[in-house]
Order: sequence, then structure tokens, then C-alpha cells
Amino acid sequence: MRPSTVADVVKEKGGVCRSRELMGRGASSDDLRRAVAADAVLRVREGVYALPEAEPSVVVAALHGGESACASALRRLGIWVLEPQQRSHVWVGPRGRAHPHPGCACVTHRDAGTSAFGVVGVVQALVQVERCLGGEAFFAAFESAWRLGLLSTAMRAEVRASLPARHRWLVDIARPSADSGLESIVRLRLHRLGIPMVSQAWIDDVGRVDFLIDGMLVLEIDGKENHARPEQRHRDLLRDASAAARGYETLRFDYAMVLYSWPVVERAVLARLEVIRSRRTR
Ligand SMILES: [Zn+2]
Ligand SMILES: [Zn+2]
Repeated sequence: MRPSTVADVVKEKGGVCRSRELMGRGASSDDLRRAVAADAVLRVREGVYALPEAEPSVVVAALHGGESACASALRRLGIWVLEPQQRSHVWVGPRGRAHPHPGCACVTHRDAGTSAFGVVGVVQALVQVERCLGGEAFFAAFESAWRLGLLSTAMRAEVRASLPARHRWLVDIARPSADSGLESIVRLRLHRLGIPMVSQAWIDDVGRVDFLIDGMLVLEIDGKENHARPEQRHRDLLRDASAAARGYETLRFDYAMVLYSWPVVERAVLARLEVIRSRRTR
């Protein structure tokens, strides 16, 4: 079998496959060696071959012995996942063997089903995130996937049914409108504190704000990217001043504050709310 034909078979199998599948199609060990020497395919490990252009997360998963899963499977679709370390998550099935490899820091998943190579589906990956990274990370990833148009009604119901009972309510309060994963996290935490809020509220002269609490307190969550630029900083200050002119108070938090200094954020919101509410009852 010619090297290009070997590559065609690997491509047909989704970019990664076992030598026994190739041999089943008539390739000999010599054919495989020649295909590797000609750079038509690469040998991932003993008995596993991939296309040179295969996705890195898929190749790492194959090296480890399974499919790219959980946070890794979602990140490749552009879904926001709360996991600063960005580890490789691999599903090997309940009885699959995890193959240690140089530099391995993979998270091995062993939920039910028959794993092969490639990438798990969005529904399975979301359910894996709940178990692996917790309810909050699940919630943000779920809202992000929905916003990207990757979750039909049937898929959302399937995710809900696959969650443990104590986390199904997360699906019930999820929406497809969150602007960023960070916003999802903040909304969930405020919800847990029993603080009623309107997301993406409209204020004349200001525009849309991330959250409006008690019709008076504006919360703005600055994502990682844009807000450091001088022109964006200017726009933010202008918005805050316009909101103040209309009698609103603005609290602005960034990525690091939400993720690493939440108690400070929480105290600030609660303290401002107390002042606003006591003013009203006076
Ligand atoms: Zn590994
Ligand atoms: Zn995981």
C-alpha cells in the first residue's frame, strides 16, 4: 500500500487509527513504516497512527489511550471552560488502559461507553465537566455552548437528565445570553446569594450593562482581553459617568477579582446594596 493510501485510510477513520484497522485494509508493517518515513502519517505510539495535521488535543488523547474529552473537547469548539491550567482530559472508557507518556498531566475519564480515538460529543463532554470540574464550571460551559448555538433543546434535556439530581437546577436557570463565561459565573454566585438581578439590562445614555441589581446598582464584569486598552478604558469611564449622571452606582470587577478574590467582590456588592436599601427605607 502506498503512503498516500495509508494516509487516506487514517483520514477516513477520523485522523487517528490503530494499525490493526490499517492492516485490515491490506497495509503491511512495511507499508506503515514507509508511510511514517514519507511523513504521510505519524506514529503516535505502538500500534497507533495519526495524520500529521491531526489536532494536537486529539493526538495527545490518542497517546494517552482514548478520546479528547471534558474541558479539552469543549475548548476546541470555542466553549468557555473555567480551568486555568488547561489540562488534557481524556476519556478511555470504563475498562480502557491509560498509557503514560512523557510529560503526561492528563485527566483520565472512565465514564461508561466504548471509547475510540477522536473527540467526544458536546453532551458527553458537558456531563464530564460537571463531574470533573464542578457545578460552576459546568454552568459556565453550558451557557457558553448554548450561546454558540451548539445545544439544541433535545441536547439540553439530555445533559440535564445525565446530571446528578442536585445539579439539574443549573440547566433550569441557564440562558443563552451570557456575554462571557465570567458573566455566567457571577450570575450564578449572585443567584446563590439570593440577590435578584437583571442581566444585560438596558440603561438610556449608557447602553447594556452586565447586571443591574435593585434597579440601581450596576455591575460590570471586564473580560480578560479588551479592557486594558486605553480607548476601552476611556469608554468604560464614560459609561460609568453616564450611569452616575442618571443616579446609578457602578461597581466594576475584572477576571482576576472574580476568580481569585471573590470574597472582596461579594462584600463590595453586599455593602453597596445595604447602603442603597437603607437610603430607600429612610
Ligand atoms: Zn497523558
Ligand atoms: Zn475532565
